[in-house]
Amino acid sequence: MSVTNTNKMFLYARKSTDVEDKQIRSIPDQILELREFAKRENIEILEELIEKQSAKIPGRPVFDSMIERIEKGEACGILAWHPDRLARNSIDGGKIIYLVDTGKIKLLKFPQFWFDPTPQGKFMLTIAFGQSKYYVDSLSENTKRGLRQKALRGEFPSWAPVGYLNVIRDRRKIIIVDKKKAPIVVKALEMFATGNLRIMDIGSFLAKNGITTRGGKVIPSDQITFQLLTNPFYFGHFRFKGEVYEGIHTPIITKKLWDQVQKVVKRRSKVITKERIHKPFMGLFRCGECGYMITAEMKKGFTYYRCTKKSKVIKCTQLFTREEDVDKQLSDNLLTVSLRQDWADKMLDKLSLEEKYVAQSCQVFVQSKKDEIKLINDKLQRLLDSYLDQVIDRDSYLIKKSELLSLKKTLEEQIINFQHSQNAWLEPMKQWIVEATNVANIAREDNLEEKKVLALKIFGSNSTLKDRKVCCEALNPWSALRADPPTRDSVRKRGFILNHSSQY
Ligand SMILES: [Zn+2]
Repeated sequence: MSVTNTNKMFLYARKSTDVEDKQIRSIPDQILELREFAKRENIEILEELIEKQSAKIPGRPVFDSMIERIEKGEACGILAWHPDRLARNSIDGGKIIYLVDTGKIKLLKFPQFWFDPTPQGKFMLTIAFGQSKYYVDSLSENTKRGLRQKALRGEFPSWAPVGYLNVIRDRRKIIIVDKKKAPIVVKALEMFATGNLRIMDIGSFLAKNGITTRGGKVIPSDQITFQLLTNPFYFGHFRFKGEVYEGIHTPIITKKLWDQVQKVVKRRSKVITKERIHKPFMGLFRCGECGYMITAEMKKGFTYYRCTKKSKVIKCTQLFTREEDVDKQLSDNLLTVSLRQDWADKMLDKLSLEEKYVAQSCQVFVQSKKDEIKLINDKLQRLLDSYLDQVIDRDSYLIKKSELLSLKKTLEEQIINFQHSQNAWLEPMKQWIVEATNVANIAREDNLEEKKVLALKIFGSNSTLKDRKVCCEALNPWSALRADPPTRDSVRKRGFILNHSSQY
């Protein structure tokens, strides 16, 4: 193994050739950020290299010559904006990992991604190099199309509201009336239609009859308004992605009763706006223009998000964005960091191999330490014998004994620490892979609260909303999965590129 002795690194910037992606900086921006980063981290740059070719297919002139020069020992590492700037295919990604393994690359630095040359770090890097966007695109497009078709057929493509149940009959997902809860819901709607009750009274009526939140609490008024009082589902229609469809499910109330309820809701609308309205994405976004928090407002049964405009300095010009719009974009963003099932399976396989390997090398290490301990025990015995035979005096005996005991303790600790450190990353990594595979499911479902919790986990609290566009940046380790958002171009090329990028 030949190891480089220079401390200089290559700065590598690559333009995004396939995608006009807001989140990927232009080349001058990348270089500027990298130079600043290098200054902060005390990195000496040998040369700035700029590539104009896609990293999805192997064979880029600048990249290839850089690798060659690193192999010759000209530089000790690479500085790039994110691993996806360096490689987007398994061959180039593999080259880099190999150079890390053989010590030719001592450092890999990314402002957008933290890498360390441990098994875990290399594992994450492999993911960042290979994660393909194309699967994600087609999956989300097809699912969306499928859901809309389902809605057009009159089947509500989501979780049924209280009073109904989602069941599977003859391998088809259908929605049936919940015989236990439906009468309670009907009673609640009838009561509210009289105009004598407040929404919170309806909440306590439902709670008394066993209809609560999952946590067993009274359902908040905003949810009662949105999901019960103004939900056309109960008379046979349903709302889906901002549109109303005619359903094929069994109504449990008449349209007449529903109209009466709407009248009361309208009359009480002043009261309702004072009560907390349904706003699942509250606290998730900041305004991209002025930086203040985004809040929600309900109008005509739909939720809108808008800037709180609390700034006294900036006169914010941002308008309202519909919840369906925010939801769609947020879901797309979530999909960019979801992990494909076949990848997850391969990674989990790789992890169990790693686990076996770790267990083996652990055993070898532990055995050698145990052998050393056994030697010490023998020495201790001989030492005691010498002392008893009066070959050595008491002081020498005590000094030597304490030396040997201290050495023994160190070895024992090394065994424990080694076992711990070798396995420490495997379990969390497994959990994370499973979690990352589930992202796509949550993104495709309509549980907005769940989406918000997930979004906070993945993007932190730096997501913004500006000009009706949602902007999120994934944190580590999620940023390893980051795939470019879909474009018409990428969809067109998908058939060709899949063969290249789907190999692990
Ligand atoms: Zn604003």
